[in-house]
Amino acid sequence: MAEFEIINPSNGELVTSYPLMGPDEVDEAVKKAGLAWQSWSGASFETRKEILTKAAAVIAEDAERYARIVSDETGKTVMDALMADIYPVAGLLKYYAKNLKKFLKPVKGEANIFLPARKSYYTYEPKGVVGVISPWNYPLSLSAGPVITAVAAGNAVVLKPSSQTTGSGIAIKEIFEKAGLPEGVVQTITGSGSVTGQALIENEGIDMLFFTGSTGVGKMVNVTAAKRLIPTIMELGGKDVAIVTKNANLDRAAHSIAWGAFTNSGQTCIGMEIAIVHKDVYEQFLEKITKITKDLKSGDKSGEIGSMTMAAQLKIVEEQVEDAVSGGAAIITGGKRDPDKKGLFYPPTILTGTNMNMKLMTDETFGPLLPIVPYENIDEAIEIANSTEFGLSGAIFTKDMAEGRSIAKRMNTGSVNINDVLITFANHSLPFGGNKQSGVGRYHSKMGLRAFTNIKSITEFPWDLYNKEPYWYPVLKNGDLLIKEALRVLFSLDTGKRVKAALNAILIILKGRLK
Ligand code: NAP
Ligand code: MG
Repeated sequence: MAEFEIINPSNGELVTSYPLMGPDEVDEAVKKAGLAWQSWSGASFETRKEILTKAAAVIAEDAERYARIVSDETGKTVMDALMADIYPVAGLLKYYAKNLKKFLKPVKGEANIFLPARKSYYTYEPKGVVGVISPWNYPLSLSAGPVITAVAAGNAVVLKPSSQTTGSGIAIKEIFEKAGLPEGVVQTITGSGSVTGQALIENEGIDMLFFTGSTGVGKMVNVTAAKRLIPTIMELGGKDVAIVTKNANLDRAAHSIAWGAFTNSGQTCIGMEIAIVHKDVYEQFLEKITKITKDLKSGDKSGEIGSMTMAAQLKIVEEQVEDAVSGGAAIITGGKRDPDKKGLFYPPTILTGTNMNMKLMTDETFGPLLPIVPYENIDEAIEIANSTEFGLSGAIFTKDMAEGRSIAKRMNTGSVNINDVLITFANHSLPFGGNKQSGVGRYHSKMGLRAFTNIKSITEFPWDLYNKEPYWYPVLKNGDLLIKEALRVLFSLDTGKRVKAALNAILIILKGRLK
């Protein structure tokens, strides 16, 4: 089988190579998952809980090794990998281990006067084989998130990680197997998006697709899924904005936004891509964030900022800077690669004097650029924040919580942090996902777990007392009259009419049709 190589983007060295799987190998993996699912779908809540808890221990006890796998493939620092790839995985495992029984147990239906003597409830049942396609920016966390959720809900999974971060995808299968998950329930397939990914989304054995990646590819995946009416969850691109009001703690805002913009070299779907700052505090804020940014140590893995991961993404960053500068923007810090540095390093960059005709103000950057824009009134700030095609997340900085909440309400995004950045993602009890072109559906939380299930409604008539309901054939004599009176009894707002209808009903039962 042909192979593809993984190159460490921070130093250009070969990490390893993996087989490029085609439709036959993908089909084999899907069939194997289908077979494994036959028994896994019957696993008790206790068994699932035990495996998830054990998996959290496996990753925590070997955290350094897993962080290095991530770091070698992405060029990010080990610190970034530990914090944003390892921790969220252990956290989500523990969260669903603790809550899965509560979230997935049957839910009782309400009593209904027209359906007396019945029990009613609905159950959450696994869907079958879930296909997961994930990106390279947080390769462990963004692959493991949907895999953990699918497994917790009783599904089997075929995972296609980004080819650049295949090792992280394989690590997830390893973690689950070490935790005692039966073989075949989680499988990782290796290869490119256009060959291996395409084969996965077209495979007839897939019952649901969870995709994290760009909006362009996401739409294509959704179209393919729609041909077989396969449910999907789409976690797509973003252009997140931080609004700093004149009531903000500017030190907190500057530290928070610098981290939100530059962590993981800005390759974060919910990273801060624009800061909009009230004109009265603009200069002060700019000075503070510029100082923090200039002090950042970028470079090798011991620095605070690692390399970027993909050469194509670095090119987008360079093009956006060129486009902005040629349109009149000023670079306050950064803005140029260090020619002495091997690897895909780009310095954290702050720009001013940008406008909405520039690509970096409208298109996703996915790199370490932060334009800072002054505003006069809040309507203007919110208009900019809501003007892009995306709606993933956002941040607001203010000491006035009423002001913060009122801005949060007006932001057309799937999440908002007040006086923080990014952290809704780290709270597993909060649903995560985007509005507009940023995605469809949510994961994490109770609703995220239930999204990986089929809901089945059930009624039970447990008594062997009588053979026929009044509305079954042959229909009850005067049944039409009784229904009319019953409707009035139940729904009329006029007490007099309700009492009269009740009396009429009794007379109809006793005497038949009224004159
Ligand atoms: P991408 O190019 O869309 O790739 C995402 C995944 O899709 C990769 O595994 C890729 O495989 C695969 N793929 C590509 N073409 C495919 C095809 N024709 N059929 C099936 N699969 C295919 O995105 P990316 O560049 O990896 O990731 C960056 C994007 O992801 C950004 O837009 C970012 O905002 C978004 N993102 C969103 C979230 C969120 O939660 N909302 C989180 C993180 C990232 P290969 O890589 O092997 O080609
Ligand atoms: Mg890509």
